[in-house]
Amino acid sequence: MRFNIKEVLNLAERDFEKAWRDSKKYIKKEINKRYPRINIEYGKPHPVMEVIQRLREAYLRMGFEEVINPIIVDELEVYKQFGSEAMAVLDRCFYLAGLPRPDVGLSKEKIEIIKNLNIDIDDNKAERLRETLHKYKKGEVDGDDLIYEISKALNIDNELALKVLDKAFPEFKDLKPEASSLTLRSHMTSGWFITLSHLIKKRDLPIKLFSIDRCFRREQREDRSHLYSYHSASCVIADEDVSEDEGKAVAEALLKQFGFTKFKFKLDEKKSKYYTPETQTEVYAFHPKLNDWIEIATFGVYSPVSLSKYNIDVPVMNLGLGVERLTMVLYNYDDVRRMVYPQFYELILDDIEIARAIKIDKTPILDEFHDLTCEIIDKCISHKDDIAPTSITFEKTLKFNSEKRRIIIKIFENEEGKKLLGPSVLNEIYVYNGNIYGIPKNLEGIKEEYRDVLKDVKDHGVSTGIRYIDGVIYKLTSKIEEALVSNIDRFNFRVTIVRNLSDINLKVDDKVMKYLMRNEKIIDVRGPVFLNAEVIIH
Ligand code: ATP
Repeated sequence: MRFNIKEVLNLAERDFEKAWRDSKKYIKKEINKRYPRINIEYGKPHPVMEVIQRLREAYLRMGFEEVINPIIVDELEVYKQFGSEAMAVLDRCFYLAGLPRPDVGLSKEKIEIIKNLNIDIDDNKAERLRETLHKYKKGEVDGDDLIYEISKALNIDNELALKVLDKAFPEFKDLKPEASSLTLRSHMTSGWFITLSHLIKKRDLPIKLFSIDRCFRREQREDRSHLYSYHSASCVIADEDVSEDEGKAVAEALLKQFGFTKFKFKLDEKKSKYYTPETQTEVYAFHPKLNDWIEIATFGVYSPVSLSKYNIDVPVMNLGLGVERLTMVLYNYDDVRRMVYPQFYELILDDIEIARAIKIDKTPILDEFHDLTCEIIDKCISHKDDIAPTSITFEKTLKFNSEKRRIIIKIFENEEGKKLLGPSVLNEIYVYNGNIYGIPKNLEGIKEEYRDVLKDVKDHGVSTGIRYIDGVIYKLTSKIEEALVSNIDRFNFRVTIVRNLSDINLKVDDKVMKYLMRNEKIIDVRGPVFLNAEVIIH
């Protein structure tokens, strides 16, 4: 709220200590606008893209130059690189296919069909259409231009040209894709041989390159650790005396930048033919946070046999890692599908997001009632243990519809020996593991069997900062406001045992409520509140 500068300075001049102590009253916030119910939105990067960015920076820091390798690789390259093993590798590749371009002639029947569409087709137009079809067959007209070219040839609009294609040339609809010898690379190595064969004579040694980009695998199916497409973060060093030691050094330098501390190198049981024998090595790295050894990368020195086929006459060390697997480790995911494509799965709400969706349902609108609500809450808390018969009374005079109204609110308990308020008034709403709980302020009087659970919620859950008393008193003051509008001059208000959120005037956003129900979460906000009030309005 805005404060009166003069008033504040005067107070401070008279009694600085008091002015400072009382200054809290100027910092006010309506309960539904308090944290965690306010949220500052920010754009979120995708975890895989975030790790790619970190890997790029890490490689650049290590003096590697970034390149983009070919994604589409002819199967011939795989034969060159893998020799006798090529078939096994090609088996995991997607081959590219395309629709054939049929040789469609313009017979008399077809001309008849076109005429039946009310198109005036003379010899000239027929010749132009024939030419268009021929050009399409030869690849001079692209598939997506065909309709336009037909419309031009026949001097008709695009819509009618589409009808011509549909009715007169049904053979276009029956086309089946035909495979080519082109594949989508299944690992970065396919691209490295091609790139290096071009650079080896142009550059001084050593050549140090990296690329982080998509690869494709024709897996049997996608599962927790396999997708049809993943990112490989791969590098090469080409130099006369490169060996597997460069692999170890690069693995260490790269992975240290991601928090891994210790490394073990194990000869890979898989012996790919494009690596020199006994150089293909798996990298295991120790992550102190996860307290575990993780298989994270593979390196090897390309075989001189494969390199020679590409006119590369020096050894080349290659190291690569799967970006999605590294991201799963760093971000603690156990299913790559959910991590990469969260949009296809149920959103997982964390506790803070659920806490944010819990709000006070009914609140008064007028500012005076907000102040009054806070006053009643504070006084109720300080008198909650007064022994009955007992009561506290509030009086408020305000102008409503140009009339002066005096409101008297009495909070009471008449039953001898009881306290003014029940023991759960200070219970606070927490969210923990997606469940909503009302947790007592003090766990001392709680039964042993519940105490550990409640302590766990309190220690690790997210507090909404809302107590039962807040919800209850906001309901009371919003009812008073309603009574003023409806010209009601007295009413009684009573909350006894709380069983659900609406008993304490709380609501949960619909979407979040549905999420809680779908995921079998619980809402446990039981407890005795026992608050009686009588309101009289003059
Ligand atoms: P896996 O045994 O897990 O199927 P692989 O031995 O076939 O993997 P490599 O050919 O050594 O894997 O590929 C190198 C790295 O590429 C793997 O360790 C992994 O990080 C990643 N990778 C391979 N295939 C996939 C895939 N389908 N989805 C996600 N990442 C993959």
